[in-house]
Amino acid sequence: MKLPVYLDNNATTPCDPRVVAEMLPYFTEMYGNAASRSHPFGWTAEAAVDNAREQVARLIGAEPTEIIFTSGATESVNLAIKGVFEMYAGKGNHIITAATEHKAVLDTCRHLERNGARVTCLPVDNTGRPDLQALEAAITPQTILLAFMYANNETGVINPVAEIGAIAKKHGVIFLSDATQAAGKIPVNVQTDGIDLLAVSAHKMYGPKGAGALYIRRKSPRVKLIAQIHGGGHERGNRSGTLNVPGIVGLGKACEVAMQEMDSEAPRLEALRNRLQEGLLLLDQAYVNGNTKYRLPHVLNISFRYIEGQTLLTGFSKTIAISSGSACTAASLEPSYVLKAMNTPDDLAYASLRFGLGRFTTDEQIDYTIRTVTDTVNTLRAESPLWEMYKDGTYPENVLKPHI
Ligand SMILES: *Cc1c(COP(=O)(O)O)cnc(C)c1O
Repeated sequence: MKLPVYLDNNATTPCDPRVVAEMLPYFTEMYGNAASRSHPFGWTAEAAVDNAREQVARLIGAEPTEIIFTSGATESVNLAIKGVFEMYAGKGNHIITAATEHKAVLDTCRHLERNGARVTCLPVDNTGRPDLQALEAAITPQTILLAFMYANNETGVINPVAEIGAIAKKHGVIFLSDATQAAGKIPVNVQTDGIDLLAVSAHKMYGPKGAGALYIRRKSPRVKLIAQIHGGGHERGNRSGTLNVPGIVGLGKACEVAMQEMDSEAPRLEALRNRLQEGLLLLDQAYVNGNTKYRLPHVLNISFRYIEGQTLLTGFSKTIAISSGSACTAASLEPSYVLKAMNTPDDLAYASLRFGLGRFTTDEQIDYTIRTVTDTVNTLRAESPLWEMYKDGTYPENVLKPHI
C-alpha cells in the first residue's frame, strides 16, 4: 500500500483517468473556441460543450439550457447570490441562509450586507440541521433568496432540501442550494427538491479543478440573474469569457461517470465509512460530529476528547492526508465555525478530524487508518496530563458537558 493514504476527498478529489482521457484531445487537436461559428474547430468545441451541458443536466434532473459553465462552485454561488440580489432589488433585499454554509455563501452574503442587503443567518441544531419552522418564520415579503447547501463539506450532514424547496415555493422565494459535496455522490434532483439555483464543482467529483456549473431554473418560476462578469455575452449573457472547453468536457464526463456508478459506489463507501467509524469509536471518549442519519455516505467527522486536533493531525500527517475542519479554514487555529454553530463543546471542536473517503479508497487503506489513528490517539493520551486527570476522576466537571 502506498503512503500517504488520501482521505481528504471533501477538499478535492483526484481526476478520474476516464475524465482525463476525455479531456486530453481538447488541449491539442480540438482546441477551437466554442464561440467560433465560422469553422469546424469552433463547431467541434461547441458540440463538446453542448454534450457536457447535457451530462451535467442529466445528473441533477435539469434541462441542458438551464446549465451555465463557470470556474467552480465559488463563482457559481457568487453569481447566484449577487445576481439574484441585483435582479430582484425591486422586490426586496432579504436573504436567509444558515451558519454552517460554506464561506463562498457566507462571505458573499456579508459582502452584500455592506451594499444594502439584510441577511438572516439561521442557527442549526446540534446535529447540524436548520429548524424549518424558524426558517419559515424568518421569511418576509422582502425575502428574495434562501441559500441552503445540499450537504455540508465538514460533517457531511444532508439538509432537508426538499422541505426547504417546498417552503420556498409556498412563499414565492428563490431557493439556491450549494450542492458541491452532494452532486454525483447521492441523488440530487432540482425538480423533486424544488431547487431554483444549484452550484456544482468538477474537482469535488473526480473532475478537473477550475470548472463548475450553475443551474438556473427556466420555468415555474423562470429565474433571472444579473451577470457578474461582462464581456462577449457567453452563456446566454450570464457569464462572459471564453469557455474552458477541456475543463467543461471533464466536468461533463465526471457527471456521467458519477451517475453511472452512484448506485454501487455509495453503498461501498458507506460500508467502508461505517467500518472506519466503528473502529474509531472503540476508543474511549470519541464522538461523531453531525447527524448520523442524514449524512453523506463517505464522510466521517469525529472528535477525540483530551487531545488537541492539530497535535493529532501532525501525529500522522505523513501517513494519512486528512484535515481538521475544512481545507479553507485549516490554516487558522480557530476551531471549526461549523462545529461551533452546532454547539459542539470547545474541547471537542478543537479535537475534530474530517475523513472524506472517495472512489479510490480501499479496504486496506481504511484498516491502516483505523490502526494508525488508534495508535496515535493512545500515544498522545499517554503523554497528556488532561487524560491522566480524566482517568483519575480529577478532571474539572464543568468541562465534561454532555455531547450528542
Ligand atoms: C469546495 C466547496 C466549494 C467551493 O468550490 P470551488 O469549486 O473550489 O470553488 C463551495 N461549497 C462547498 C460546499 C464546497 O465543498
